[in-house]
Amino acid sequence: MPTSPQTSSTPEPVPFIDLVAQYQTIRDEVKETVDRVFETQRFVLGEEVEQLEAEIADYCDARYAVGCASGTDALILSLIALGIGPGDEVITSPFTFFATAGAIHRVGAIPRFVDIDPVTYNLDPQQVEDAIDEKTKAIIPVHIFGQCADMETLWRLAVRHNIPLIEDACQAIGAEYRGRRAGVLGTVACFSFFPTKNLGGAGDGGIITTDDADIAARLRSLRVHGDAGGYNHVEVGFNSRLDSLQAAVLRVKLRHLESWTEGRQQNAARYGELFRSLDLMSSVEPPVTATDRRHVFNQYTLRVGGGARDAVMEYMRAEGVGCAVYYPIPLHVQKCFEYLGYKAADFPESQRAAAEVLSLPIFAELTGEQITRVATVLADAANAATTLKFPSTEAESRRKAA
Ligand SMILES: *Cc1c(COP(=O)(O)O)cnc(C)c1O
Repeated sequence: MPTSPQTSSTPEPVPFIDLVAQYQTIRDEVKETVDRVFETQRFVLGEEVEQLEAEIADYCDARYAVGCASGTDALILSLIALGIGPGDEVITSPFTFFATAGAIHRVGAIPRFVDIDPVTYNLDPQQVEDAIDEKTKAIIPVHIFGQCADMETLWRLAVRHNIPLIEDACQAIGAEYRGRRAGVLGTVACFSFFPTKNLGGAGDGGIITTDDADIAARLRSLRVHGDAGGYNHVEVGFNSRLDSLQAAVLRVKLRHLESWTEGRQQNAARYGELFRSLDLMSSVEPPVTATDRRHVFNQYTLRVGGGARDAVMEYMRAEGVGCAVYYPIPLHVQKCFEYLGYKAADFPESQRAAAEVLSLPIFAELTGEQITRVATVLADAANAATTLKFPSTEAESRRKAA
């Protein structure tokens, strides 16, 4: 390894996400609760899950919450509980994590994509309205990156057409729209406890919130093979239960969620200030929080235009600054959805977002120094990319040499 004065002064890398840093702040609480569950030797559903369900319902201001095995299952169970099945069309966004459309396909229904609003990256309600027809049986807006979709407009459409509205709130626990939390903005809402979500477990997990007692009861039955009680199976369901250990860990973390969310928001605000002082606002478009919403920043996602995104990302990574693209391939052009017959150009805003977005580290434990480092390296990267002083091949050889 070549040593140079520069090597010794190279700043510490900044990880994209650092769950170890988070764990250090809650280690004792987590160990204590895990021990407690082991002493009971009850591992599936049970009291911890019931407590978590009550606490999540309370947190979202919903009547019911039903735990399940993942956010993906939350979507699948919700679709089935709402009677969606073969031949039905479900409108959703092509600019989301795969599971949103995967769940629609998995229940035998047909994903019907419409394009996004370029500012919030959420479903464009006008295009939803234009797409609704007699085959449309549900709408799934995704609160992408942690900011709610325009739910009142979508709610009015859903009511007018008498179809359910399913929130994909997997990235948005704690997000608000006009003062109401994600979880009570549609017929049902689906949350994920995947470790990198704002409330992440020690493995997979998910939960569904609703104000409808009948839907909640059906979801409780569907997650245990459609058992209506006493081994009476009224329909064929799934094995999609939440573990007691997950629930116990999540209950510990839920106590910290608000302060973590505030940390994310403060980091986002700090990025904004730094971008202005570094004169970056002409090369990147930071995320915009609509005035009637509370953004919880599961991702801090900006746009890098002018075809420079990939070069900027490579430069940053070569400098040891974690960053990532969510999502590089819109769902309407995924191989597995070829059968739907979409063309790439059908959803230009989703295509453009996929080519331009870049997510920066935003986790609550980021230090002021780390945030400054990320912003400074981004400024250098944007500068290098626009002046073509630093083509991506050079970044690549730099990384190899490092
Ligand atoms: C994470 C995520 C899901 C799926 O959740 P899993 O718990 O990983 O199954 C679904 N939709 C969106 C938008 C997500 O971000």
